[in-house]
Amino acid sequence: MSDSTPTWKQPSLGDPLQYIKGVGPKRAQLLKKLDLNTVEDCLYFLPFRYEDRTEVKTAASLMAGEWVTFLGQVVDAGVIRIGRRRKIFEMVLKDDTGMVRAKWFQFNETYFADKFPIGQQVILSGKPSPRGRAGLEFVHPDIERVEGEEPEEIGSILPVYHITEGLSLKAMRAIQRNVVEKYVGCVEEILPEEILHRQGFPGRAEAFRLAHTPPRDTSPRDLDRFKTPAQRRLIFEEFFVLQLGLAYRRMHSREDTKGQAFKTRGPLIRDFVKLLPFELTGAQKRVLGEIMDDLEKPRPMNRLLQGDVGSGKTIVALTALLTTVENGAQAALMVPTEILAEQHFLNIQTYCRKLGLHLELMTSALTTSKKKALLESIEAGRTSIVVGTQALIQKTVRFHRLGLVVIDEQHRFGVLEREALNKKGWHPHVLIMTATPIPRSLALTLYGEMDVSLLDELPPGRQPITTRIFYENRHQAAYELMGRELDAGRQAYVVCPLIEESETSDLKAAQEVHEHLVREWPGRTIALVHGKLKQDERQKIMADFKSGAIQVLVATTVIEVGIDVPNATVMVIEHAERFGLSQLHQLRGRVGRGAHNSQCLLIAYPAVSGDGKARLEAITQSSDGFRIAEEDLKIRGPGDFMGTRQSGMPLLRVANLLRDFQALELARKEAFRLIDLDPGLADPAHRGLKRALSGVLGERMKLLDVI
Ligand code: ADP
Ligand code: MG
Repeated sequence: MSDSTPTWKQPSLGDPLQYIKGVGPKRAQLLKKLDLNTVEDCLYFLPFRYEDRTEVKTAASLMAGEWVTFLGQVVDAGVIRIGRRRKIFEMVLKDDTGMVRAKWFQFNETYFADKFPIGQQVILSGKPSPRGRAGLEFVHPDIERVEGEEPEEIGSILPVYHITEGLSLKAMRAIQRNVVEKYVGCVEEILPEEILHRQGFPGRAEAFRLAHTPPRDTSPRDLDRFKTPAQRRLIFEEFFVLQLGLAYRRMHSREDTKGQAFKTRGPLIRDFVKLLPFELTGAQKRVLGEIMDDLEKPRPMNRLLQGDVGSGKTIVALTALLTTVENGAQAALMVPTEILAEQHFLNIQTYCRKLGLHLELMTSALTTSKKKALLESIEAGRTSIVVGTQALIQKTVRFHRLGLVVIDEQHRFGVLEREALNKKGWHPHVLIMTATPIPRSLALTLYGEMDVSLLDELPPGRQPITTRIFYENRHQAAYELMGRELDAGRQAYVVCPLIEESETSDLKAAQEVHEHLVREWPGRTIALVHGKLKQDERQKIMADFKSGAIQVLVATTVIEVGIDVPNATVMVIEHAERFGLSQLHQLRGRVGRGAHNSQCLLIAYPAVSGDGKARLEAITQSSDGFRIAEEDLKIRGPGDFMGTRQSGMPLLRVANLLRDFQALELARKEAFRLIDLDPGLADPAHRGLKRALSGVLGERMKLLDVI
């Protein structure tokens, strides 16, 4: 038998691009730069904008400043020299109603002469501008020859794609046209008929075709807003498959995963609550109720707790940790940094001591022998609560019976880590806490399978924080304000961008600021803390700050989370323009924790652009973490906001979290509804969906092995 491949082959969406008409090996390489490897990639590579050439204007009806298409004949063309160096290419065109001029500053003379000889019919598109008495002229318009029968682009709506060096828009359009023409027939429908019908969506193949080559009667406004039925369908589909995955997984884990059902509200918890020097807020009680209900069930809790800085998440977490211990299981509290681990440890230890419980801290600072002893104790089940960083779920750590993992201040802890836990066969309850209020659109995508609790009430007696901006020339004034607070017996933070950020030379490293303050204020106790300090030095400084022995703590952003010193009433943030809004909001949440008025003084340096100013102004206006986060997301985009890649968030190809928020909500509703109706996606009509789903889930599973 011969193994020669047949000369014909069924076209398939997985086909490489090299063999598409107009591509070839060289262009295939260029397309790769745009992440386009297969036909399917091309189909999903939608135009980001469209050019409306349906309006072909005559010379007489042209108006300055209006984007138009003009169809005419070249009557004169040539290079004109301006001065000694500069050359422009100018062209005069006419139609039945008059003349127009066009000019280019960058051009290839032979190409122009060749392609657009006198007498050639061409179409121009661009915005004409006035040219004195000579009428109107186009500067750098798009120009194309009108050949006998290639008028596809005249009078139509043209897609505009992202391109890369060496690949013109024109070539890209041709490639995409060829892809659509040849392959759209292979596109199979995956959405249920019922949904298409209900939402008025076109079929899948049709949607691709319409999105790439919109017919001339399509509303240009809808196209540019991604609101045509075709675009809406593709956007919906992307969210839908994702949400279906989440819904499926959620249903699945509910049924299959055996968790540990705890008894809640036992004597230990009652003792603990009695120890608290305050009454729980209404929100804390409500959220605790939700968590306790979860813990009582025989399937693992999977809950996200969002609460603005200072809303009292730690107490909520501790209650859950203690409940776990009371049920004879082990609990882990995981945080992003060692400093925060230490802070939590010290904080929680005061309660644990009084309750006669043993708490352990696991950090990289442990000596080998101590670490070994701790690992043994965890494995034997003698350690009931352990605080630490991500290292807690590393390979070397084996729990005897892990009942609960609380993850604090880490919105990056995604699906993947959770899977890693489950892979070890632990199936603990999981509570993720975050003070960065995750905008709903992101929460739905990242944590769509989780339940969400909201701590939407600050403990009483919190003082509002006044936030003010000081531009560089007034930074002295900020420090004077701070000095006055210190004189009144208060304490202060000075936050500087990270020391590691050495690439920007003008950054005032925390060290410099510290040295400067020490020189300026010899009578005051000023300490510097940063991530590179040894653990014991750092612990001592933090303890001294907490006790009041240190008045000013100069710090890198490591204090962003978790530190709690009610007597600290001022925070100066150096180079505020370098921080994200949510981060600034988090930082300033370190003050305003006691009975005194607090202030956050943002110092911004000259590089601040108009946008940057508006951003900073926004944070002085709002104390609502959610609004600030939404604002932040708008400015920075979701990838940056969350560190998308690490979080295991699938990359969206068509949809945009900000723009398409409504589609996301809709997709979520439809997806959960479908899973309710057909939990196993067993209906033959859902076969395509099931396949698409395994694609999405499969991607994530693959990523899992990286950990
Ligand atoms: P976050 O949500 O930012 O983690 P914390 O748990 O650190 O907030 O709590 C902030 C401060 O508020 C702590 O000093 C904590 O003891 C205090 N606190 C928590 N709950 C209450 C409450 N119900 N009433 C008064 N103070 C509270
Ligand atoms: Mg906290």
